[in-house]
Amino acid sequence: MIRVGVVGAAGRMGRATCAAVADDPELELVAAINPGRDGEPLGPLIGRSHVDLAVRADPDELVGAGAEVAVDFTRPDVVVANVRWAIDHGLHLVVGTTGLTSPDLDEIRSRLDGGPLGVLVAPNFAIGALLLQRFAEEAARFFPAGEVIELHHDGKVDAPSGTAAATARRMAAARGNPWSGPSAESIPGVRGGDVDGIRVHSVRLPGLVAHQEVVFGGTGQTLTLRHDSIDRSSFMPGVLLAIKAVPSRPGLTVGLEPLLDRA
Ligand code: NAP
Repeated sequence: MIRVGVVGAAGRMGRATCAAVADDPELELVAAINPGRDGEPLGPLIGRSHVDLAVRADPDELVGAGAEVAVDFTRPDVVVANVRWAIDHGLHLVVGTTGLTSPDLDEIRSRLDGGPLGVLVAPNFAIGALLLQRFAEEAARFFPAGEVIELHHDGKVDAPSGTAAATARRMAAARGNPWSGPSAESIPGVRGGDVDGIRVHSVRLPGLVAHQEVVFGGTGQTLTLRHDSIDRSSFMPGVLLAIKAVPSRPGLTVGLEPLLDRA
């Protein structure tokens, strides 16, 4: 059993993670950290009445409860401090919070250097989204053209999504040359944005969660790849995979991709 603590436990992803950990027979949920919710019973918050834990404000509770792996789903403005704290206190860490920069990742690498701790940072835990990227990379070698359409809920602040931009970059690298197709527009922007020569179109609508489609075109045929995250449970198999893998991966792992072939 791996002893797990969740940081940001009362948030949307934190609650889903607490429930997924509590349901997994290989994991034990031992701590739930969220400032401002100190003392609140966790069980009712995550719909698991048998979970007899209270949310705590103080991250020291992770150490007191004997957590081996911490999972961070907090906010971009606090995640760096949380990562430093976890490393300083000898915890393996899975980070789902977005917003870590390349210099942040360099700092994590150097803090971990040569030690036994593992940190895994993944901006997308949906295994289907990662497989779509892998398949798109493969198809890009065989089709002369392809475009990315990403569709998200109307609360999403960035466009294009980081996942869609990464898909386009991987397609462009696999193809090896620019590929953006006709650029004539009677309305500016109607042909989408250009990421490394690949057109990327961002749709924002209420009712959507997170969706990505890649359409390839060739002589007399098209190929469409599509992934849909229907709700936050889509991220949980990837989160659980990361929690189980991180203690045996010293150093920094970026993305879930290196773990996929272990699943
Ligand atoms: P959320 O609902 O706002 O939850 C964030 C939680 O963190 C809140 O409960 C917040 O508490 C808490 N928090 C703030 N500061 C904290 C601190 N210093 N220590 C502990 N907890 C703290 O956000 P969310 O939708 O769960 O998303 C969280 C992050 O995950 C975002 O960065 C989001 O982009 C990312 N995300 C990643 C994936 C992925 O696959 N990797 C998927 C979905 C979302 P208060 O409300 O009391 O401030």
